[in-house]
Amino acid sequence: PRLANQIAAGEVVERPASVLKELVENAVDAGSRRIELELEAGGARLIRVRDDGGGIAEADLPLALSRHATSKIASLEELEGVASLGFRGEALASIASVSRLELISNTDDDPQAGWRVVAEGREMEPRVTPAPHPRGTTVAVRDLFFNTPARRKFLRTEKTEFGHAEEAFRRLALSRYDIGWSLRHNQKTLHQLRPAADAAGRERRIAALLGKGFLENALALDLEANGLRLWGWVGLPTFSRAQADQQYFFVNGRVVRDRLVAHAIRQAYRDVLFHGRHPVFVLYLELDPSVVDVNVHPTKHEVRFRDGRLVHDFLFSSLHRALGEARP
Ligand code: ADP
Ligand code: MG
Repeated sequence: PRLANQIAAGEVVERPASVLKELVENAVDAGSRRIELELEAGGARLIRVRDDGGGIAEADLPLALSRHATSKIASLEELEGVASLGFRGEALASIASVSRLELISNTDDDPQAGWRVVAEGREMEPRVTPAPHPRGTTVAVRDLFFNTPARRKFLRTEKTEFGHAEEAFRRLALSRYDIGWSLRHNQKTLHQLRPAADAAGRERRIAALLGKGFLENALALDLEANGLRLWGWVGLPTFSRAQADQQYFFVNGRVVRDRLVAHAIRQAYRDVLFHGRHPVFVLYLELDPSVVDVNVHPTKHEVRFRDGRLVHDFLFSSLHRALGEARP
């Protein structure tokens, strides 16, 4: 199972940013209202995610680190065959296999209650000991890839790794306005985002994460048709090229990078007046969960729509209309 986890880790755990994403998604799944992130050295030395969600019961703590122990897999070849199928329930185990991981959690309202378990790479011998913690969970991942030097070598500079981590944070914070967030790096608080309940709050968050210039040069939209809803902000041509990489698209609250979506947006921009411009946008597509599969790949950036044509045409015509109306 250790070997299985380490190889699985190659898919799920590419760099600190991917660890951050997995830990935060778990915190979100646990129903947290507030999620605090702390990184050191770009995340290579420390990634700590603290939440106020439902917590993990004492008996489940070791399980959380060793789920889906792959006793069926004997050889590396077999393992690779399985690896491509996905990693439901293996993120924590994978991360633990390539780091020093500490998990502290409490399901109880008593802040003196709580339990701790640690794992260190292959030396995973989860002993659960008492550790006071407010209701919720803290996961600390230290010294990522300390036991896989080949992979550690692939980590880039602290600045680059933190850039990726901050970008992952940005996407997550843009996906859940109802959650309060904070991000610290090397003892410095970089983001402090209160939960946003209304449009003004959401725009405050956008400004905090993407800069004030984003909204000043963007158009808010909210359109609905055939059970599809598209809302958010699209950048206008006054937008400077320096911010050209701000493209955020969410499907039912999940970050998505999808060819069909990208194509529809590009077409709409090209058709209106943004010739040669790189579109910038923060857009949310909402549709019946039964007509979209968001779990095509373990990193979950791809989606499969049941009716791709319908989605494509809706995106294209919505944006076309909104941008057309904004044309000076
Ligand atoms: P998955 O999220 O796919 O189930 P993970 O390896 O990411 O797999 O997590 C394993 C399990 O540990 C989760 O299913 C959940 O029960 C528990 N868990 C992990 N992180 C948290 C958290 N922050 N709060 C509550 N439970 C958690
Ligand atoms: Mg998970």
